[in-house]
Amino acid sequence: MQIQSPALVVSIHDVTPSTQAIVQEMMDDLKKSGISCCSLLVIPHYHERELLTTAPAFVEWLQEKQKEGHEIVLHGWSHLRPAAAHERLWTRWMTQHYTRGEGEFYDLSYDEARAKLKRGKEEFEKAGFDLNAMTGFIAPAWLLSKEAERAVADEGFFYTTRLHGVIDLKKDAPAFFKSQSMVYSVSSLRVASASQSHLE
Ligand SMILES: [Zn+2]
Repeated sequence: MQIQSPALVVSIHDVTPSTQAIVQEMMDDLKKSGISCCSLLVIPHYHERELLTTAPAFVEWLQEKQKEGHEIVLHGWSHLRPAAAHERLWTRWMTQHYTRGEGEFYDLSYDEARAKLKRGKEEFEKAGFDLNAMTGFIAPAWLLSKEAERAVADEGFFYTTRLHGVIDLKKDAPAFFKSQSMVYSVSSLRVASASQSHLE
């Protein structure tokens, strides 16, 4: 992804076989507004139920979108973060209330993150995608531990984003570019600053 100034990136989160129809509808609407290129944040094993390689019609549709110029971004492995026993209040609020148990990469260790990233890439490769064209990783709800960020860089991703910025991982030391995410969430049915809404 090349960032020019000023720039607007339209990202659609949680692209999976079960959201394909609504995502297509959103893309059609965006096209009518002159936006014909989006980042599609795809979850390869959504909620441990929808595996990319078992959904050939979805894969075909996604490959078509890629040919049309849309970017495919890895968006976690399953998107889920199971609650652990005896979590601190802040962690519990962040992971169970704020993201409703969906902050998969929030507090992963380096090894845990790297294993999930590898599985994600393998799943895309098995489904027939060219991994060289998948240069971005965005964590569910933009929640990424520092260790997980290092794993993302070591897995060869060029960039990731957090709520308030884009991180260029190609450099020796990650470079941060400030940028405000604006979110429309179907769960909150309103346009809001991401910090005010439940996150994707
Ligand atoms: Zn998401």
